[in-house]
Amino acid sequence: MNYRHDFHAGNFADVFKHIFLTRILFHLEMKPTAFRYIETHAGSALYDLLSPEAGRTTEWRGGIGKLVAAKLSPEVQSLVEPYLRIATPLLRSDSLRYSGSPWIAKAMLRRQDRMIFCELHPRAFARLSANLHGDARAKLFNMDGYKGLSAFIPPIERRGLVLIDPPFEDMHELTKALDAITAAWRKWATGIFMLWYPVKDIETVASMTQTLVLRGVKRVLRLEFQIDEPKPLESLVRSGLIIVNPPFRLDIEADVILPWLADCLGVGLAAYSIDWLSGE
Ligand code: SAM
Repeated sequence: MNYRHDFHAGNFADVFKHIFLTRILFHLEMKPTAFRYIETHAGSALYDLLSPEAGRTTEWRGGIGKLVAAKLSPEVQSLVEPYLRIATPLLRSDSLRYSGSPWIAKAMLRRQDRMIFCELHPRAFARLSANLHGDARAKLFNMDGYKGLSAFIPPIERRGLVLIDPPFEDMHELTKALDAITAAWRKWATGIFMLWYPVKDIETVASMTQTLVLRGVKRVLRLEFQIDEPKPLESLVRSGLIIVNPPFRLDIEADVILPWLADCLGVGLAAYSIDWLSGE
């Protein structure tokens, strides 16, 4: 377990993932009834972009660093406003920080909603606990996220979102995450599940994600976004989101957000795809 998100926080893949996280939470809040937000791999919630780790890669400069200066059409503005409202106030000249997914959930969830976070790394867990301290809506577990997923679903609210955002230290993680989604969906077929994954080889990942449908999982939307053409042995430039049971019209929103994101963050052959792997 060597992965440290501090090196990557705020990069193009984080921005892509977190914009869609805010869109799903926004849609869940259209109904007044409570929902549950569950994260299997939470990270530490806030990241110091002036840390030696962030300074070593400077990945955030090609992600949130570019986005804050970007031009927004009114249509894009209305869709990304929930994300920018949370992310931009942390980018102050005296303290540059980036909002991880638990921080986004903390900022967006309402009084009636509840959150569960699993994080295995002791140091990331300690920082997560400090950053969410005093929030009675949140329960934190220093445990394996896949074990947490099977223990914590279905939640009593019967509506909500699970974010699965593993470190992907190797590609077996994709098989493991897809197995976990299949098992979770069988226990809670109406839950929304969002998995983030890296893409080094488009065809391999496409056939692996398709297995969800072969196992009977319904309403699977796959979004992918790249800032350049992926090459297997080079650094990450493309990543994807599998979203099971996406909110109504999320695909239409993606069709507005992703071309804009490609314009803002592209460094070479920027591109995106929006695919229903099974029926809408
Ligand atoms: N979701 C976070 C966000 O968007 O801000 C980023 C999470 S980061 C990609 C993955 C996290 O998973 C790391 O903090 C790592 O320590 C943690 N981790 C690694 N293996 C784990 C496991 N088996 N269960 C729970 N957490 C794990």
